[in-house]
Amino acid sequence: MIKRFLVVTLLLGFCALVLGCGTSADDVTRLTAPRSAFDAVMLDQSLLDEIPAQKSFGVIQASGTTDLSLDDVIVTQAVDGEPLIFNKDTVVRAVVGSTGSGAFNATVTVQFDGKTFTTTKPVEGKQTIVDLAVGAPETFQTQTVQVTVEPESGVNDPDLTNNAKGVTLPMVKPNEKIIAFFLPVDWTPEQRQRYNFEQTFPQFVEENATYLRGAYPLPKDQIEVYSTNTPHMLAANEKRLSNNQGDPDVVSSHLLYATISLAARRLRPDATLVVGVFPPGWYAAHGNKSALGLALADVKGTVTAQYVLTDATTSAHELAHLYWMYEDYDYSLKPPRPFTWLDQSGYFVQKNQPEEISDTNKIPTFLSAYAPDKPSWVDTRIYEYLTAKFTLQSGGETTEPMILAATLARQVEPDDKNFPSDYAAGYQHFEPKQTVYLSVAAANMRGGETLEAQWYQGNKQVFTAKQSLNSGNGWYVFQLRNRSGIPKGEYHVDIFLDGKLVKTSKFEVSSSQ
Ligand SMILES: [Zn+2]
Repeated sequence: MIKRFLVVTLLLGFCALVLGCGTSADDVTRLTAPRSAFDAVMLDQSLLDEIPAQKSFGVIQASGTTDLSLDDVIVTQAVDGEPLIFNKDTVVRAVVGSTGSGAFNATVTVQFDGKTFTTTKPVEGKQTIVDLAVGAPETFQTQTVQVTVEPESGVNDPDLTNNAKGVTLPMVKPNEKIIAFFLPVDWTPEQRQRYNFEQTFPQFVEENATYLRGAYPLPKDQIEVYSTNTPHMLAANEKRLSNNQGDPDVVSSHLLYATISLAARRLRPDATLVVGVFPPGWYAAHGNKSALGLALADVKGTVTAQYVLTDATTSAHELAHLYWMYEDYDYSLKPPRPFTWLDQSGYFVQKNQPEEISDTNKIPTFLSAYAPDKPSWVDTRIYEYLTAKFTLQSGGETTEPMILAATLARQVEPDDKNFPSDYAAGYQHFEPKQTVYLSVAAANMRGGETLEAQWYQGNKQVFTAKQSLNSGNGWYVFQLRNRSGIPKGEYHVDIFLDGKLVKTSKFEVSSSQ
């Protein structure tokens, strides 16, 4: 009960604080700025720290000699290096080297899910990236992706031993299904006209649907998105977010969520997620100046968001709250922390858009605060947590025994199932007196495997613990605590399955007082 109350307060009070809020005519022009993709992208020393830009190549040579090499193969559905999700769109990135001077055409061939894909692109110098969209895998088995590169017929490649590479990836079939319904709420005729609603609202819904399909670890037919263009209008007692003293009006908020939930489910009774979409300025006009979206834990499966045409992340962000993820920003800190940066590069496959991070190009997670100039994406910690949740708790399957996630959390559910709650990708910071929980998601175990957690402060091992696993799916919790306070410092915990390192999670212990 206490926990639920906390969740309501937190989510009502602080959810999705906006930076540079508001939809103006300017915002409309920002909507479509797709980076061109499926073009060969050059990565040389001078470009390594930048977003890969489209490279213009020199004159392509149809004869001569170059040693083409396949230096790396990266298979991505959203985040690099993750197991494949069944029936989710996939991109295969080939990193091709070429020793000859100038540009050559390279034909890259990919065998994936029993199908063959091929493309010919110019390559030049040490590392040229060639992306191939290979569709969604439809065979539920551990997949070996075979890639080869060869020059065109007039060009001599003196060493053919480095022209092929294979990558083997296990597959996960999560069993969760999201049926999202977007319901416009409290739009006046005047607002609908001002924001060109009839055209832009369906566009907003479509962008949200595409983002959800890109960023969430689910088969593509397990995300359905519906909407209506007819607004649901509110009664006066349903739209008071705060009372005369400026405190949250919990009663009115519950009425608000109930009416939105009912109105949407009259149109789509099987909706698992209802997104109520208010006109711009609605939260501020009704007592919450800073919100852009809100989730209320007591009314399951219903979130609200304020309309920002340029922000396609609303549903992904708010939906994550319904799966017990918290914000990746913290305005209670000084200075405030508006973003948690992606820990790894990824790829927005549905938009043909690489999401490359480097020291000079940081991308916030979609649970960070929204900023129009900083498009967000999903990172390893969120993606693995959701993969584990959608698989372990919903009767999903994997093609082999796998550890799906090692999630740091401040609490685990008190039901012996060890599900991590109070989780966010940004929770890599713990106070000395807090307990650091690590929930490890084990899928498809045979039974009897040994799971070991080795805790390190810097390079020094400070603690180790082992557990024997049951057969099937389950979360296993490890914890680190110290009555007199965990010493401050940088920590990581390595997780071993039968002696093999399978996950590493990092965190920091420091005092914010
Ligand atoms: Zn939020």
